[in-house]
Amino acid sequence: MTIALNVAETHFRPASRIASVGVSTILEIGARAAAMKREGLPVIVLGAGEPDFDTPDNVKKAAKAAIERGETKYTPLDGTPELKSAIAEKFRRENSVDYALNEVTVATGAKQILFNAFMASIDPGDEVIIPTPFWTSYSDIVEICGGVPVLIPCDGAAGFRLMADQLEKAITPKTRWLLMNSPSNPSGAAYSEADYRPLLDVLLRHPHVWLMVDDMYEHIVYDGFEFVTPAAIEPRLKERILTVNGVSKAYAMTGWRIGYAGGPEPLIKAMAVIQSQATSCPSSIGQAAAVEALTGPQTFVGERRRSFQRRRDIVVSALNTIPGIACRTPQGAFYTFADCGGMIGRTAPNGKRIATDTAFADYLLETAHVAVVPGSAFGLSPYFRISYATGKTELREALRRIADACKMLS
Ligand code: PMP
Repeated sequence: MTIALNVAETHFRPASRIASVGVSTILEIGARAAAMKREGLPVIVLGAGEPDFDTPDNVKKAAKAAIERGETKYTPLDGTPELKSAIAEKFRRENSVDYALNEVTVATGAKQILFNAFMASIDPGDEVIIPTPFWTSYSDIVEICGGVPVLIPCDGAAGFRLMADQLEKAITPKTRWLLMNSPSNPSGAAYSEADYRPLLDVLLRHPHVWLMVDDMYEHIVYDGFEFVTPAAIEPRLKERILTVNGVSKAYAMTGWRIGYAGGPEPLIKAMAVIQSQATSCPSSIGQAAAVEALTGPQTFVGERRRSFQRRRDIVVSALNTIPGIACRTPQGAFYTFADCGGMIGRTAPNGKRIATDTAFADYLLETAHVAVVPGSAFGLSPYFRISYATGKTELREALRRIADACKMLS
């Protein structure tokens, strides 16, 4: 018997939850740059959010030893006891925050931590306040989970930082979370204790609002900036804070896919429910490697921080010599988020008008063969982000090309 197929039914119909969510612009730009490279063009990619350093040797050795010991099977759902202990110890040692083992969770990258947390806590229509510019995945994850991202513009004049009055105004009965990221991807802005204090005071007045902090770049801070995490600043809020972190950026371990968080047990348990139906557990080998990263020698972290600071200085000073571009000095992470407002409205030699920061980024890719990410991808225009997780020679060459391309705009 043949079954009559309705042609319309054979076409893929995406679920409504992803209707407004696309593949990350950063990944798209990376793919375009890679295609140009394959054509033989000398493209320099300043788009990726990934340290260019190799994972430290002691970490690699620990992973090999774990394989040899046969630690290649499923692990407990949200992290091995060894890794949870190493994380709790890290929170005590570096952040002065006490989390018991049942208040610690491990997932396949900090990205999955965020995903688990929002999936476990957001009902349709719940609001998440996100200071803007923000790491592109924040709003997309919130939307996939049925929530409403509430984007608060924090422009360069405010140091890209959220102010207490902005937060106060944004809070509604539907607000579930405020999502903070310090140092920030993409702006590099970081919140000192004094910067956080007024925001935490607002949250103390609104007990229904929880705070998710993404501390991914805590070790990449400059000029003696003192990193501090909200759970340490305000213990009265600790019962509604999720402190998110991971090994990807601090230990150049993006491919090992280990992220973690500390938070109140009921939330941690709910996140484990999501994880149990998604991945069962993070990679056993990645977890063994993360134990070594967190408990082994920490010299790598300081060395890399100094190296990033030298690169930051090269990029910021070069950008600020280009008429029409203004770049603040970031306090952390490995990105600059420069204002390209002076380029908007200019015309390229081929007659194309640079109408937006996206057009400016396209122009740099096509003319200078340098891939950068437009501010629009992070919710704030007209800016562009450079990731300086690239060797100094390449960085200098890229900046020379950017300056030349800008000169050609009239
Ligand atoms: N948070 C921020 C701010 C990031 O920039 C990134 C990576 N780009 C992540 C979280 C995710 O890191 P991972 O999933 O590799 O742990």
